Amino acid sequence: MALVGKNIESLKPYQAGKPIEELERELGITGSIKLASNENPLGAGELALAAIHEHAAQAHIYPDAGAYNLRAAVASHFDVPPDEVITANGSNELLTMLARTFGPGGNAVISQYGFVAYRIVLQAAGIPLTEVPTRAGFVQDLDAIAAACDANTKLVYLANPNNPTGVYANGAELRAFLAAVPEHVIVVLDEAYVEYAQADDYESALAMRDVRDLLVVCRTFSKCYGLAGLRVGFGVAPPSLIDYMNRIREPFNTSLIAQAAAAAALRDTDHIRRSVEVNEAARAVLTEGCAALGLETIPSQTNFLLVRTPRPGVEVYDAMLREGVIVRPLVPYALHDWVRISLGTPEQMQRCLDALKKTLV
Ligand SMILES: *Cc1c(COP(=O)(O)O)cnc(C)c1O
Repeated sequence: MALVGKNIESLKPYQAGKPIEELERELGITGSIKLASNENPLGAGELALAAIHEHAAQAHIYPDAGAYNLRAAVASHFDVPPDEVITANGSNELLTMLARTFGPGGNAVISQYGFVAYRIVLQAAGIPLTEVPTRAGFVQDLDAIAAACDANTKLVYLANPNNPTGVYANGAELRAFLAAVPEHVIVVLDEAYVEYAQADDYESALAMRDVRDLLVVCRTFSKCYGLAGLRVGFGVAPPSLIDYMNRIREPFNTSLIAQAAAAAALRDTDHIRRSVEVNEAARAVLTEGCAALGLETIPSQTNFLLVRTPRPGVEVYDAMLREGVIVRPLVPYALHDWVRISLGTPEQMQRCLDALKKTLV
């Protein structure tokens, strides 16, 4: 008998952004910058950092398995009942828990160019999936996704805005989609970039929970809150779904320090505001800089930009590494002529544009 099933045999593991230390070790260089994982260039906020220091002395104590304080903080911040909040080791763990809890015996539907983790967690759980082609400009075809759900569909995963494309569905489109997906399907709405979405017509699905019962809104502290290294995220869902997820959740899935830092980060509205400002400025600079170099970009509501490359994206990625700038090639998405570049500080954007320019000559 084979050691693993076909689903695991054919699984391609998630390819993370290249760490700075690894690049510098390999090339013997210093002073590199990483624009590959959509991290906050400002780092964590002061309140989160203070909470981290304050709780370091309790590192020998097991965390609260129910994350009472963090769930209470999330509940009050987003005006939802605490029993409708579940916390996780990054929102990626939520995606895994959802697939393992609800997927078996059914199928799932995702969008082409949707976040690659969806395919990985569904395949790992042995759940057949349908990938619905995008429309022009990488626009996720919400009508077709709803129509692709059949009687056996258990889960739909959708990111809004989406990674790696940066596109978004507006409030009216999202509401219509949530109403159109059959009632028996759990819609997993991933809002990892919600803080960065500044378009007037963008709306979070947290305000649309009245439209359907089976909706899970996933959020993360990894992006705008600047806590990617701590691994913490949360989901908002009906208590019945949370109850099932809690049956498979590891009891101590979020660390004591992560719980404290995340609760503090929620209060740090100044840090979020500054992070969004820096991001908006960087988006304009990088978009214009690319245009000046003759490079197409896709309008983004996130903290990264999808940039079309005149030669294979992996070659541009390699050449930029040599300049000490780490961007993200998109081979797992079969986006061979594109790279994804995280938005950063003004200095980082200038350095990135200089490196990009060098790769074009
Ligand atoms: C970064 C990201 C996540 C969050 O990952 P964490 O596990 O919370 O660090 C989730 N979904 C999308 C679309 C992302 O880009």
